[in-house]
Amino acid sequence: MAHIHVLSPDVRGKIAAGEVIIRPASVVKELVENSLDARAKRVEVEITNGGKDKCLVNDNGYGMGREDAQLALERYATSKISLIEDIENIRTFGFRGEALASIAHVSQFEIETSNGTTGTRIVCEGGVLKGVFDSERPQGTRVKVSSLFYNLPARRKFLKSAAWERHLISETIKAYAIIFPQSVFIFADADRSIMNLPQVDSMEKRVKTMIPPQATAYLVDVDFRVGTTHISGVLSRPDLDISYRLNNIYVNSRPVRYPRVYRAILEAYGGPKNPPIFAVNIQTEPQLVDANVHPAKSEVKFKEERYVLDLLGQMIRREVFQKSITVDYEFDKRDTQRTRVVSQRFVQDVVVPYATDRVEPAHDSEEFWQLHDTYVLAQTKSGLIIIDQHVAHERVIYESIMKGRVQSQRLLFPITIELTPEEYQVYERTKDALKEMGIEFKEFSSHTVVIDSLPADFRINRDEIGGLFGELVELGNLVDEKSRIARVLACRGAIKAGQKLSTPEMQALIDRLFATENPYTCPHGRPIVIKWTLEELAHRFGRS
Ligand code: ADP
Ligand code: MG
Repeated sequence: MAHIHVLSPDVRGKIAAGEVIIRPASVVKELVENSLDARAKRVEVEITNGGKDKCLVNDNGYGMGREDAQLALERYATSKISLIEDIENIRTFGFRGEALASIAHVSQFEIETSNGTTGTRIVCEGGVLKGVFDSERPQGTRVKVSSLFYNLPARRKFLKSAAWERHLISETIKAYAIIFPQSVFIFADADRSIMNLPQVDSMEKRVKTMIPPQATAYLVDVDFRVGTTHISGVLSRPDLDISYRLNNIYVNSRPVRYPRVYRAILEAYGGPKNPPIFAVNIQTEPQLVDANVHPAKSEVKFKEERYVLDLLGQMIRREVFQKSITVDYEFDKRDTQRTRVVSQRFVQDVVVPYATDRVEPAHDSEEFWQLHDTYVLAQTKSGLIIIDQHVAHERVIYESIMKGRVQSQRLLFPITIELTPEEYQVYERTKDALKEMGIEFKEFSSHTVVIDSLPADFRINRDEIGGLFGELVELGNLVDEKSRIARVLACRGAIKAGQKLSTPEMQALIDRLFATENPYTCPHGRPIVIKWTLEELAHRFGRS
């Protein structure tokens, strides 16, 4: 363990951060970081009145000797770096040597610490030293911050209700507890215990102790490396649909706020109404991260942001979705011959546009059922899945359009559509894109077009296609975005609620759904699949 020294003016100038203490949660953040930097295996936080009257952090880390303890309260005093180059390879949360000094300046401050040989207690008031005493405490450090901002009334007034400040503190502690599962974390408000997290051996186990019990079976553990980038952590399966928030992002094990990463994760899940539960640590070479964006070090930016965001999306599709699917639907273990044949049938007989000669339902399988001509039920290894047939088919069509894999099918009876002037404009604007997506036209006049091919996947009757242009008009300028057109087409072309499906149709739909990249969320963000595991059923029937 290095001793504390005051950084040279040159180094200070390069890392100067300014104010970091704005509320009780920032005090707790700095103190907990110090405890973890001191390798504490147990971190106890105690507050009163949302931390406004007292924030106390007690740890069993390596502590400090007398001289260090006194130095620690000086500005720019740190044991964590000496040279500016050290920042590149920093392994600790702190390095600026500012936190204790800033906190001591705005509170009644007391630190009690021992390195196992000497125990010291130092008392300060508004940054003025009041006394240095001997102490009998065991190895570790305890910092008590009372009457925060007592000497800065304007600051104190800015603080919110005790309940809100406590909530922020609680979120702060959680963030560190997730990334340090091997340490015990205890949090109490006055004498009421709020959190008591035992030592566990993985992030996954830690997260499991924090979320509602019914969600624990839905966590997927990930560990994904490409080059020097390593993404690890836990994410919920896309078929979990509860409104519980646990969305933690770490860069090189440091909790951060990184809205673009958050959005990239949501996007990979298809923008569901309830965001997934996740705690994700993105590790990369420190040189590739710019950590100086924010003085509290809680905002960072990857220098190659696009690349990292792409990797993240890939990781979610490959690790989270594929794991969720194979575990459950056993999609890849199916008889591929049978699947292929059925999928072909699906194209040929079943979804022929506005087909009149529908395939008779062949009840040759007991694995699929249709409920109210709207939902498809299928038995899986671990239970039952329920699929919304419309959004499932929508997802299938949407992905085939976006990947340019649409098979176009010539119509036996072309469809003539009359267009209003606006519709004609939008037709002109989108006809090339539509052609790429499998819809082909002939133009008769400036208000009449004839559709003579449609995507083979479409399940649509003649009248429904007429409304297409009206809907495209409503998109306004968004009509130039391919994904917007694709969504409209997918929705129009997809099987509707209320349409009866035969068993092979149901099977083909499910096979094709699970061959998409994101079988769990439709292009508008609605869930496609709901799952009931045997465990959940047993639980509900009181069998377990
Ligand atoms: P920084 O963490 O940026 O170095 P701080 O002001 O937070 O700056 O802390 C100053 C120094 O005091 C640290 O570098 C560390 O050596 C020492 N220190 C602070 N808190 C603890 C603790 N809980 N246990 C052991 N040492 C501590
Ligand atoms: Mg610190």
